Amino acid sequence: MGKDDNLMTLARRVSLIKPSPTLSLEARAKAMKKEGVDVISFSAGEPDFDTPEGIKNAAIEAIKDGFTKYTPSSGIIELRNAVTGKLAKNHGLRYKPEDILISCGAKHSLYNIAMALFEEGDEVIIPSPYWVTYPEQILLSGAMPVIAETTQEDSFLIKPEVIEGVITKKTKGLILNTPSNPVGAAYDRTQLERIAEIAVRHKIYVISDETYEDIVYDGFKQTSIASLDKDIFKLTIVVNGVSKSFAMTGWRIGYAAGPGDIIEAMGNIQSQSTSNPASISQKAAVEALTGSYEDFINMMVGRFNRRRHYIVKRLGEIPGVSCFMPKGSFYVFPNISGILGRKFGNVVLDSSVKFAEYLLNEAKVAVVPGEPFGAPGYVRLSYATSMENIEKGIDRIEAAMRELQ
Ligand code: PMP
Ligand code: GLU
Repeated sequence: MGKDDNLMTLARRVSLIKPSPTLSLEARAKAMKKEGVDVISFSAGEPDFDTPEGIKNAAIEAIKDGFTKYTPSSGIIELRNAVTGKLAKNHGLRYKPEDILISCGAKHSLYNIAMALFEEGDEVIIPSPYWVTYPEQILLSGAMPVIAETTQEDSFLIKPEVIEGVITKKTKGLILNTPSNPVGAAYDRTQLERIAEIAVRHKIYVISDETYEDIVYDGFKQTSIASLDKDIFKLTIVVNGVSKSFAMTGWRIGYAAGPGDIIEAMGNIQSQSTSNPASISQKAAVEALTGSYEDFINMMVGRFNRRRHYIVKRLGEIPGVSCFMPKGSFYVFPNISGILGRKFGNVVLDSSVKFAEYLLNEAKVAVVPGEPFGAPGYVRLSYATSMENIEKGIDRIEAAMRELQ
């Protein structure tokens, strides 16, 4: 059978989605490096620090103790207790262990939510710029993503009237990501209260992706929308994990906390799809959430903060570029629309995709174009890379800009 014949036999949902562009771009940059090309990559969506020793040791102990078998599909009770303890300590949230589902990364938690809650005929509101995976998972569920735009002038925060404007009878959910990927926007308590009021009035579920909650700057205080009052608590599913806070992206542990019946439904789906996340990773995550890793997080955030100031300043000095100062996460999302339309030889750089390709091919710098984040005219740079790489990479971008007519 030829390739086209194969496509004919695939399920329709396959044609609805694209592979993760963030993962594939990082893979392309890594492959170029392996071939000996001196690429500076700003595409990594993961901390450039190693997992702390104590967490690694917990995993080694788990292996030595023979903790190498299936666990309860929804996760071991110690880990679900560790998650309830963390949510109580950080946000005053009161969950029972059965309100928690441990999954293979926050991405998997989000997928389980989409499968348990959404279907054809439903609409789910996603503020843009958004993390690339949200609309794709909603499409996989059969529901329709409804994009609600934010602007740089509003610090990329969704205005209550914009949410109200896109709500229909079909609206079933809203995905809120704070601090956000790719922008680093973050909502304070008052802003969350306005969103919660709308969600409660229209009975819309809020999926609160708090993956970057520990990576915040300038003393920003992270609030979980679930903690505002008991009405929004009943409508919120909190999503988080250990990937970013503890530099554990490869361990694949994420979690969801929410109303028991939704979590149970998600757990049933998980029990018939992946079963439990790796037993060893779960033990490591217990150590991460119950051990003393504040110093590690402070060190990491301190380093990110220095890089954040440096990269925003340097990008802002490039003619045609303006850059929002992120409040959290480890990405910058400069507006490059002032450069679009310029030419390299005969090629007109008329989109962020073309601009990113130009940087990769000519300057050997990998950035992620804004289009898959719902933001043409922007590119994403991760500063989860060394200061030395950042300096070198921005020098190269500046030089590449000088080549354009
Ligand atoms: N949410 C956001 C906003 C992210 O950036 C990521 C990182 N890919 C995730 C969820 C998923 O992370 P993980 O699956 O590693 O927990
Ligand atoms: N969150 C990261 C990113 O946005 C990881 C890659 C992914 O899972 O898409 O780059």
